[in-house]
Amino acid sequence: ATDVDDGDDDFIFPDLPPLLRGHPEVHLRNGVLTAARLAAVHEPDAEKAYFVADLSYVYKQHERWKRCLPDIEPFYAIKCNPDPYVLRLLSALGTGFDCASNGEIAQVLRLGVAPDRIIFANPCKATSFIKNAAKSGVDMMTFDNADELYKVARANPAAKLVLRILTDDTKSLCRLGLKFGAPLVTVPGLLAKAKELDLDVIGISFHVGSGCYDSSAFSDAVMRARAAFDMGAEAGYEFKLLDVGGGFEDANFEATAAILRDAIAFYFPDRHGLRVIAEPGRYFVARAFSLAANVIARRAPLTELTEADAGPQDIAGQPTVMYYINDGVYGAFNCILFDHQQVHPYVLAMNGSFHISASEPLRTSSVWGPTCDSIDCVCPVTDLPAALQVGDWLAFDNMGAYTKCAASQFNGFEVSSVIYTTGGGAGSIETRRALKAVAGA
Ligand code: PLP
Repeated sequence: ATDVDDGDDDFIFPDLPPLLRGHPEVHLRNGVLTAARLAAVHEPDAEKAYFVADLSYVYKQHERWKRCLPDIEPFYAIKCNPDPYVLRLLSALGTGFDCASNGEIAQVLRLGVAPDRIIFANPCKATSFIKNAAKSGVDMMTFDNADELYKVARANPAAKLVLRILTDDTKSLCRLGLKFGAPLVTVPGLLAKAKELDLDVIGISFHVGSGCYDSSAFSDAVMRARAAFDMGAEAGYEFKLLDVGGGFEDANFEATAAILRDAIAFYFPDRHGLRVIAEPGRYFVARAFSLAANVIARRAPLTELTEADAGPQDIAGQPTVMYYINDGVYGAFNCILFDHQQVHPYVLAMNGSFHISASEPLRTSSVWGPTCDSIDCVCPVTDLPAALQVGDWLAFDNMGAYTKCAASQFNGFEVSSVIYTTGGGAGSIETRRALKAVAGA
C-alpha cells in the first residue's frame, strides 16, 4: 500500500516512547527504523540491540482473523509476547486473553479487561493461583487430570471448567502433548469425577502444538473434540464451549482456517448455543517484531587459524569469519533453543549507511551472541558481506514470538528494548486511521 501522510500525529498511544515521533515515515528495512536510529546515533547507548514492533501488523492480523474465522473468538496467548502495547491494542480490538499464571492474569486485568474475557489455560495450576484467579473473577480454566478437579473443588467450586484433551501434535514445531492433554479414554472417568464433585464443566479444549505446519491436525483434533462432547452428554453435561487452542501459523493461516471451518461445520452441524474460542499466540506477533543488533566483535574461526596455509576457499562451506553481536541465545535468540527457530540475519547498516549494494561480495560467516558461553551461537553458517565489520548492524525479521519474554540477563547483558511503529511507510493510511480510532476506544 502507498503511504500518505495525513499530517496528523499517527501514533496510537500517547505514551509511546518518543523516539519515532517526528519520524512518521518508518520502514524497517529502508528507512524507518533506520531513520530513527540515525537520529539516535549520537546517543551514548546508540549501539544497543533493539526490537522494532510494527503495531499495524498486529492490527492487520486481527482483521485477517475476523475475515477468515469470523465465528471463532481469539483469546490471545499472552505468554507468546506480553508486550504492553500489543496487549493494549488487542484489548481495544476486543480479543480475549489466554493466561497461564497469576502474573499474566494481573497484567491483563490492569488493562481494564473484564475477567470473563480471560481463560486461565494452564491445566496444572498452583492452588493459590486458582484462589487468586477466583478472587479476581476469573472462573474459566482448563484441566486435564483428577487432582486438578480436587484442587478446583476446594479453591473455586464455581469455576467454569474446560477439559483439555490430547490431540495429535506431531505436525508441530513445539509439541505440547508430552505434558498436557487428557487422552480420550480418560475423559469419561474425569467427567464422572467432576460430576461427583459437583463441578461445572462447560466444554472441551485442545492444542495441536505450537507452530503447526500441517493444517489437517486441526480437523483431526475437532473430530476428537466431538467425541469428547458426546462423552460429556453421557456424563450429564451440556457442553457449550469449544476451545481450538493455539498453533496458528502466519504462513498457512488461510488453509488452516478453511480446514477448521469445515471441520467445525461437519462435526458440529448444529452450532446453536456453541461458543468457539481459540488461543492464538505467535499468529498475532511473530512477524510484527524485528531485531537490530550491532556487530561488537569479529575474529577468525579456529579452523581458519590452524589451517592458515589452506586459505578460506579450501574448507568448503565453513565460515571464514565469526561475528559477535550484542544479543544472543540467552536473550532474544532464546527462540533458537526453546522454540526451535532458525534465524536469518541481513545487513541493516554498513559503514554508517543503510543503503546496501546488492552486488557486495559475500563471505561464509557465523554469528554469535555476546556472552562467554559457546552455546551462544545465533547462526552457525550464513553469507554476509565480506566488508562487514565492527560497528555495523545486522537485522532479523520474525522475532515477535517467544523471544523477549523468555530472555535472561545472563552475564549481565540487558534484555533488548522495543521501538514501536505503526507501520509508517509500510502501512496504509486506512490502517493508521483505524489504529488511531482504536486508541481512542
Ligand atoms: N495456548 C496454550 C495453552 C499454550 O500452551 C500455547 C503455547 O504454548 C498457546 C496457546 C499459544 O500457542 P501458539 O503461539 O502456537 O499459537
